[in-house]
Amino acid sequence: RTGTDPVEGPGAVVLDGVTKHYGEATAVREMSLSIEPGEFISLLGPSGCGKTTTLRMIAGFEQPDAGDIRVSGRSVLGVPAYRRDVNTVFQAYALFPHMSVAENVAYGLQQRRTPKAEIRERVASALDLVQMRRFADRKSTQLSGGQQQRIALARALVNRPSVLLLDEPLGALDRQLREEMQLELKLLQSRLGITFVFVTHDQGEALSMSDRIAIMRDGRIEQLADADTVYARPSSAYVAAFVGQQNFIEGALTASRDGIATAHGIVQATTARPDLPAGSVAQAAIRPEFVEVADASAAGEDAPTRPNLVRGTLIGVSHLGETMQYLVRVGDDLSVIARRPTPDAPRLAVGDEVVCSWRTESVQLFALDAAA
Ligand code: ATP
Repeated sequence: RTGTDPVEGPGAVVLDGVTKHYGEATAVREMSLSIEPGEFISLLGPSGCGKTTTLRMIAGFEQPDAGDIRVSGRSVLGVPAYRRDVNTVFQAYALFPHMSVAENVAYGLQQRRTPKAEIRERVASALDLVQMRRFADRKSTQLSGGQQQRIALARALVNRPSVLLLDEPLGALDRQLREEMQLELKLLQSRLGITFVFVTHDQGEALSMSDRIAIMRDGRIEQLADADTVYARPSSAYVAAFVGQQNFIEGALTASRDGIATAHGIVQATTARPDLPAGSVAQAAIRPEFVEVADASAAGEDAPTRPNLVRGTLIGVSHLGETMQYLVRVGDDLSVIARRPTPDAPRLAVGDEVVCSWRTESVQLFALDAAA
């Protein structure tokens, strides 16, 4: 590295103040993002936040109205899609039904008049990568969804791109297959060292695969960080609500600003919010997996109230497999969800009077966010 100039080696993708309008609507707003070579990055967010538009601009299927996009250190503005060092895998695999698996994978190379022997060799090795070589002569219509997905992947990998763009590639698969393919994709990516830009609205998928996750909101990146950070230290209530589940409790920020006074007691957090004035309405977020639930009598009916403890009535218990989930009604306007690992989940019945409690460290404080 020389000075502060970023080194944008092969596989680096840089978005620099990129904006895209569709008529009146703005799909992407002054978005900047620097993706390292070999990085697995996910664009995560709800429908309509601009994920696909961002991907399509990197691919070259859409042109930005403002800003620059560089791939491997070179601006790709004005460079047609087929001449960019990127390949795209879509959710709808768009395999040619009348062609065999091998012909599907070879198609792009044939278009570029690659020598026959080289095509044969590259198709075979691409099929090996996705463990589909023995299906080479099958018609693509005679494959399962997961197999078609692998062929779509092989068809992109055969071009040996530095960057692979994936738009919800596992969206059509059932849950179990999807989880298997997540592992496979991640392994393949780290083995090949290709930069992956992965679009998904499935937070579990993003958390399990990515080096970094860009959580998008309304055409912008709300937070860009690794899975641990996004999960444990979300930058806003929006991110906190979108990644994992949350209990949100509203109240007035106390004078010490490290807690809020709610109708049900005090909720304290270790992180103060000096940016928010005392007395203003704020939100505490607590994940269900950090909430303990116990029979109220065990806590003592007359036990003094303390911070981070609320009393309520158990109104639902559900078995989620690895965890048990408890829904607790607290007063008229608040429900708290608690989740405990099944092996040591407390035995409680609907109707029981219970207490929910959590540690101060488990509480995040946020400014009130209407959209979250
Ligand atoms: P999804 O998860 O539903 O695919 P997304 O996050 O990928 O959503 P985009 O498809 O990028 O979102 O769309 C962003 C915004 O731009 C949306 O409001 C969408 O309606 C709008 N948009 C996208 N493509 C077009 C288009 N071709 N013409 C007009 N508006 C569009």
